Amino acid sequence: MPFIVKILGSNSALPTSKRFSSIQVLNIRERFFMVECGEGTQIQMRKYKISFAKINHIFISHLHGDHYYGLFGLISSFNLIGRKHDLHIYSHHDLQKKIDCIFDEKEMDYKVIFHNLNFSEPETIFENKFLTIKSFPLKHRIKTCGFLFIEKQKQLNIIKGKIQTYKISIKDIIRIKNGEDYKTQSGKIINNKDLTMPPYKNRSYAYCSDTGYYEKIIPIIKNVDILYHEATFDSDKQEIANKTGHSTSIDAATIAKKANVETLLMGHFSARYKTTEKHVLQAKKIFENTYAVNDGDEFQIQKQIVD
Ligand SMILES: [Zn+2]
Ligand SMILES: [Zn+2]
Repeated sequence: MPFIVKILGSNSALPTSKRFSSIQVLNIRERFFMVECGEGTQIQMRKYKISFAKINHIFISHLHGDHYYGLFGLISSFNLIGRKHDLHIYSHHDLQKKIDCIFDEKEMDYKVIFHNLNFSEPETIFENKFLTIKSFPLKHRIKTCGFLFIEKQKQLNIIKGKIQTYKISIKDIIRIKNGEDYKTQSGKIINNKDLTMPPYKNRSYAYCSDTGYYEKIIPIIKNVDILYHEATFDSDKQEIANKTGHSTSIDAATIAKKANVETLLMGHFSARYKTTEKHVLQAKKIFENTYAVNDGDEFQIQKQIVD
C-alpha cells in the first residue's frame, strides 16, 4: 500500500514559472490528503493528474496567502464538476469567515466542514483505522501548525501459503494476526511464530512550514521517515530568517539531525533563489540525507519489516 508525498508547489510567497506556492498531496494507502492549497492548486492538480474527486481533507497550516489562496478556486470548481460529498478543511477558524464571505451556501451542492486547529498544543485531528494525523504548533509570525501523518501500529503479517496449507478461516486469520496460535482441524497446535512474519514499521511524515528554528517540535517529529521542513533562506540570510519567522537550510538540517529523521525535504524557497544548490550544500554538512524539493517531485516511503 502506498505512502507517497507529492510536491505540487515548493516556493514561498511569490510563485514563479518553475515553482508554485505551497501545495502537497499525500497518498496514504489510497486515501488522499492535501496539505496547503496555494495559488494555482487546480493547475498543478491537472498537470500532475491528481483526481479532484479523491480530495476530501485539506490541511492549511496558517493564513498567509501562499498557503490557501488556491482554496477559493478549488472549492468553486468542486461545485462546478458536481461534487456531492463533504470536504473537510483543517485550519485557523478565520478561514471559515473568508470562505463564507465568498460562497453562498444555497448555491453549493456539497458541504464544507471546518475543523479549527489548536495552536497551543499538539492534538489529534484525524483518525481512521490505519492512520493518525496530528497538528502541532510552529513558531511563525502568526498562529501556525505543522502536521504529522503516522500509520497506526500494525498487526502481524500472516504467511500466505500457511492459509492454504491449514485451510485457515477468516476468523482464525484475524486471531493469528493478533498473535494467537492456531489449532488445526485434527487438534494440532501450530505456533504463531510458524504462521506469521513481523509487522511492517509504521510509516510517518511530518510537515513543518512556516516556522523559525523551533526545538519544541523535536519530540513530536522524532524518528519520522520523512521530514518536510521549510528553508525559505540559505544560511547567509539567517538574520532575515529570524526576523520573518522563517528557517534557513542550516536550521532545517539541525532540526532533522536532532529529531533523528530518515530523510529531510527542504522547501518553501524564497523567489530570490534561482537554484537551491547552496541550500543543499549547507544542509548536507549537518544532515546528509537532504533534498531540496521541486514541483512535481514524488517521495515514496517503502514498507519495512520491524527489526
Ligand atoms: Zn509561506
Ligand atoms: Zn507564513
